[in-house]
Amino acid sequence: MCGIVGYTGPREAFPVILKGLKRLEYRGYDSAGVALLNQDHLNVYKKKGKVADLEEAIIGKDLQANIGIGHTRWATHGEPSDRNAHPHTSANGSLAMIHNGIIENYAQIKSELLNKGYSFKSDTDTEVLINFIEYIQSNNDCSLEEALRIALKRVTGAYCILLIEKDNPDTIIAARKGSPLVIGIGKGRDEHFLASDASPIIEYTKEVVYVNDYELAIVKPGELILKNLGNEKVTPYVTKLDMELAAIEKGGYDHFMLKEIFEQPSTIYDCLRGRLDAAAGTITMSGVEQNIEQLKNANRIMIVACGTSWHAGLVAEYIFEELCRIPVEVEYASEFRYRNPIVNKGDVIIAISQSGETADTLVALEKAKENGAFIFGIVNVVGSSISRISHAGAYTHAGPEIGVASTKAFTGQLAVIMMMALKIAIEKGSITPEYYKKLLLELQDVPEKVDAILKNAEELQVIADKYKDASDFLFLGRGYNFPVALEGALKLKEISYIHAEGYPAAEMKHGPIALVTSQLPVVFVATKDSYHEKIVSNMQEIKARRGKIISIITDGDTVSPTLSDDWFSIPMADELIAPILSVIPLQLLSYYTGIAKGIDVDKPRNLAKSVTVE
Ligand code: GLU
Repeated sequence: MCGIVGYTGPREAFPVILKGLKRLEYRGYDSAGVALLNQDHLNVYKKKGKVADLEEAIIGKDLQANIGIGHTRWATHGEPSDRNAHPHTSANGSLAMIHNGIIENYAQIKSELLNKGYSFKSDTDTEVLINFIEYIQSNNDCSLEEALRIALKRVTGAYCILLIEKDNPDTIIAARKGSPLVIGIGKGRDEHFLASDASPIIEYTKEVVYVNDYELAIVKPGELILKNLGNEKVTPYVTKLDMELAAIEKGGYDHFMLKEIFEQPSTIYDCLRGRLDAAAGTITMSGVEQNIEQLKNANRIMIVACGTSWHAGLVAEYIFEELCRIPVEVEYASEFRYRNPIVNKGDVIIAISQSGETADTLVALEKAKENGAFIFGIVNVVGSSISRISHAGAYTHAGPEIGVASTKAFTGQLAVIMMMALKIAIEKGSITPEYYKKLLLELQDVPEKVDAILKNAEELQVIADKYKDASDFLFLGRGYNFPVALEGALKLKEISYIHAEGYPAAEMKHGPIALVTSQLPVVFVATKDSYHEKIVSNMQEIKARRGKIISIITDGDTVSPTLSDDWFSIPMADELIAPILSVIPLQLLSYYTGIAKGIDVDKPRNLAKSVTVE
């Protein structure tokens, strides 16, 4: 949430920052702003709305500078407005700052500053922090760096901040705790790029340093110094980015979401590639192999995740229990971290997160780690915080996911979960070699089947147009497809703003059936599986009450269409693998519904990607 960019070097800073903000806009789009420092001249421009609104507002302004910072906001404290937009400046006008995160004890610090005579132009926690820093600096007559260190020891919460100072016109000071920060080192080593993720950096350099929690970075054109909060130097660990520019551009699609849905045959293939060898009957996953004893002897697996990743966790529960015979619990990270969960040494915690930065999941992991649990991370973003704090893990290799509604990351997560479960199961002896081999072959065929589904995408556009004016939707599924129903409902809410509920199909008669009228579209995820006859009965129950039935069915099913108003058919697959396929029509249904309603599906209201606040 919230994107931050900084530049210091010989180039014009503004174009670099503006382009960077556009790349980071998926992280928040309540407002955008820049602060540009030209000698001792500090220009701050900010505007409510998207980066394009800022761009329009600054036409004709003085944008000359070789150093600057920029921000795209996802509001936590104070409504989206020009006034609350970042960068914020300190009361004496000497400092400008951008912030990603939440300063939890801002109210107390604010009241102290009010007592000292400070006044505030915004409602944000960020403005409190910058004035606190200014206050410490002027009261102690110390450097900005020292003042920042003192201030950060006092604040609680999460932050990644970038600060510039009029008296130091070539330096950006950065700090992080809980919110991500990457620093790119320019090819000539005479410039630095700072950002929330690598997407604004990749076009200039592939050499980056990921800043860790409780570190400060003092960044000048030809110098990068990292320090801890104790003022000791830390050696920057330079890594190479493994990402191409094309991966973060739309590549001819109207929206990132559509591009990412259509990328799934190749992203799933990339996820399986080098790991799954169906002919040889092997799965190669070093994170699993090196820890196989721990994994196969786990007393219990606890899956911790949020949002779409939590739905992947629910599918994983069914798969791990079926194949590995290990008890599984799936937890919302935000709940797990604030209750007093019983986590023991023999427990395995699997964290699932696209960004690898999800704040709630990160803190939940730290807590479990303290209790001696083994942490396995399933993340998409290489080098992200969760991948670094996990004992072992597996990347989903889905490539950058920019659309706010997660699509390809979800199917990548399911592919990793399936391989992981199969590997543990065969090592443990909890499945037969024949079934193992059958599932390997099925998994290998998934990219091709996804491709076949996507070829019929237009059918879903027709269905979306027909139901786009509904005020509510119900999504029903059983077994492995129950979490898919939840995911379908979530996707529709996110992208079309239509109220939708996901429910286990059989549970529907314990309440939601009261909602059924001839106006209610009910989506059944009803592919051929061991519960198929049961879900067909549930369709009958809805039909008897004149609900509108849209069903996702398996090729060759002749019964479901007789009960459905509309249906979409997908290739046959084993029921454990079906969710990777059955979710795709639901992604497309949401996408086309959002488009039919004129919604900016890549930036749906109130949402942001990479949730780095609690
Ligand atoms: N808490 C800050 C604000 O509301 C920053 C939020 C963010 O991370 O975008 O302005």
